Amino acid sequence: MSECRLTENACVPTQNPTVLPPMLDTHAFTPRVMRWGFGAVMCVIVFITALSLWRVEVDKRAMNEIISHEQVMTEMLYRMQLAARDRTFALFGAVHTEDAFVRDSEIQHFFELGTAFRQAQTQLMQLDLGETEHTLMRQLRAQTEAITLQHQRVIELATSGRQADAEKMMVGHVVPAQTQMVGTLTTLLERAISRTHEHATARRQIQNRATALLIAGGLAGLLLTWGGFVLTTRKMSGLITRLTDASDRLQASNLDLQFQKLALDEHNIVSVADTHGTITAVNDKFCEVSQYSREELLGQNHRLLKSGLHENTFYADLWATIIVGKVWRGEICNRRKDGTLYWVASTILPFVSEDGLPSRYVSVRTDITTTKEAQLVLERSRDELEQLVQIRSGELAEREEVLHSITNAAQDAVMMIDAAGRVTYWNPAAEHMFGFAEAEVIGVGLHDLIVPERYLERAHAGFSRFATSGEGPAIGRTTTLRAKHRNGKEFPVDVSLSAIKLRGQWSAVGIVRDATERVQTEERLKQLATTDTLTGICNRRHFDEVLASEINRAARFTNPVSLILFDIDHFKRINDTFGHQAGDRVLTQLAVTVGNTIRTVDQFARWGGEEFVVLLPGSDLNAGRLLAEKLRMVLEKQPFSDVGQVTCSFGVAEYTPGDDMDALIKKADRCLYQAKASGRNRVETSATMPLPVVA
Ligand code: GH3
Ligand code: MG
Ligand code: MG
Repeated sequence: MSECRLTENACVPTQNPTVLPPMLDTHAFTPRVMRWGFGAVMCVIVFITALSLWRVEVDKRAMNEIISHEQVMTEMLYRMQLAARDRTFALFGAVHTEDAFVRDSEIQHFFELGTAFRQAQTQLMQLDLGETEHTLMRQLRAQTEAITLQHQRVIELATSGRQADAEKMMVGHVVPAQTQMVGTLTTLLERAISRTHEHATARRQIQNRATALLIAGGLAGLLLTWGGFVLTTRKMSGLITRLTDASDRLQASNLDLQFQKLALDEHNIVSVADTHGTITAVNDKFCEVSQYSREELLGQNHRLLKSGLHENTFYADLWATIIVGKVWRGEICNRRKDGTLYWVASTILPFVSEDGLPSRYVSVRTDITTTKEAQLVLERSRDELEQLVQIRSGELAEREEVLHSITNAAQDAVMMIDAAGRVTYWNPAAEHMFGFAEAEVIGVGLHDLIVPERYLERAHAGFSRFATSGEGPAIGRTTTLRAKHRNGKEFPVDVSLSAIKLRGQWSAVGIVRDATERVQTEERLKQLATTDTLTGICNRRHFDEVLASEINRAARFTNPVSLILFDIDHFKRINDTFGHQAGDRVLTQLAVTVGNTIRTVDQFARWGGEEFVVLLPGSDLNAGRLLAEKLRMVLEKQPFSDVGQVTCSFGVAEYTPGDDMDALIKKADRCLYQAKASGRNRVETSATMPLPVVA
């Protein structure tokens, strides 16, 4: 298999087997540019240096030539000057001497010097001279020729013994001519020196410029080299960093690729097919899963594995995708060699050749049979569950309808509140009972609506405890509470509460019944049980209970308690005289009068027949006696309708520690008996009464 790179749609072959990260591609030209740049800088430096050296060399040669030329010229001129001077001296020597030998010697020396002079002159003439020098040289030659004739004349005069004439000629003609010739030589020499100086100056300037050029070139080279070094260092360090990163990434991706290859080989079913779907390569996993050997698979069409589970359009879609070079992904059910089915999650990658058309297809598949089977089981379970849910939902809907009908028809208010105390259900009976429509109360806090203000705090505290625990003293039982109608009127209700947990939150369901009638009936019954029907005051049974509790209290707290027992005098006679009904009216009127006279804390009851009893909590015997006396007088003065005056006899006793109910009653009863016995319409107390005789 050749190297390839994956594009979004397909696998395209690459030219280069080593795929560098794109980041490196964009910077690949940098080293090349830097190499060329560095080379160019070096070339410039070498060129400038070479040019400078060449200029120096050329100048050096030119200088040497000039120097040698000027040196020769100067030397020759100098020699000529010396020779001319020495010839004059030699000639003077020959003129002034008497000795013929010396004269000949001087003349000999004169001619030798003449030869040296001419040799120097000849050499001078061979030099490359300027126009001015040539003119001067011509002038010099003319002067030389002129002076040579004079020299010869002087020599002739001297050798002929005419020294005086010779001397005269020397002074008169030779020396001035000699001076002129030396002057010309001096001019030539000065000229030569001046030219040498000019040439030297010019050459020095050129040399200076060359040196400056060399230094500038050197400096420019140094700068360029330094700049190039800095740039190179930076570029190189960046390049090295990028190369290091790229190397790391390549290493990581290499590892990743190795891992993927391993994973692909061990866990994936891989096959390669040509454009007709003919299998050209398979991996071991493919053989293992399909149960076909590699030999059985190679050369076969992928149709071999067709399960028959998919429609033809499924395969048509698959081919339509990959044939245009796009990647196909999907789940396929295939058939093993033994006929059983297996499912694979498949990715088919078309390999696109240079002409842009797929040349082969690589399939990478993962066996998902287990997942698929589990999915099928789950789907079946889900279908069954859905059916069950539908059935249950139907049943629930029916039940809800029934419940709704029941609660709608119920006389009792049915309501539900959530964990925040807000109303979530409110039936028509509740609307009627509390005066709030359902639409008004849904989502509103229930307690603020129907709980009287004085119970609100307690209700909120109790409910917040319930909301967190689902428990409370009122849950699961019926409690009688006070409720408030929309119009502010309070009334008793019987509330049956139950807790229900919905989606993890406690809700409370309440069935509320208006208890007004029940409470009224109960109160009536209670009143009937505790009051005397004729007079409306407390009856004896209820009085017994009150008396027992008061005696208990007196025993515990040592509070004084007194008791008055009184009986209407000769009541039988009243009945007999005025009739039984008149007697009843006397009883009723008496009860009213006594009730108006006693304190509210005093308990007044009909003891039986025309006998009454008054219990005085907190009153001692004396206080009891005083009240009895007051009652006696009030009744005595009270005109009873139909009957006129009615009197009563009173017995008063005080509780003493150790007394029980009967003992106290008996003490009072004895006093009453005593009052009757003593003439009636009087008060007798236990203090005024003689102690009973013990047999
Ligand atoms: P005493 O001064 O000794 O008390 O004489 P008395 O006539 O009152 O005697 P006694 O207590 O024996 O009689 C009570 C009478 O009261 C007898 C009974 O007929 C009458 N009586 C009892 N209960 C009622 C009642 O409810 N209505 C009427 N009208 N009479 C009653
Ligand atoms: Mg009586
Ligand atoms: Mg009586």
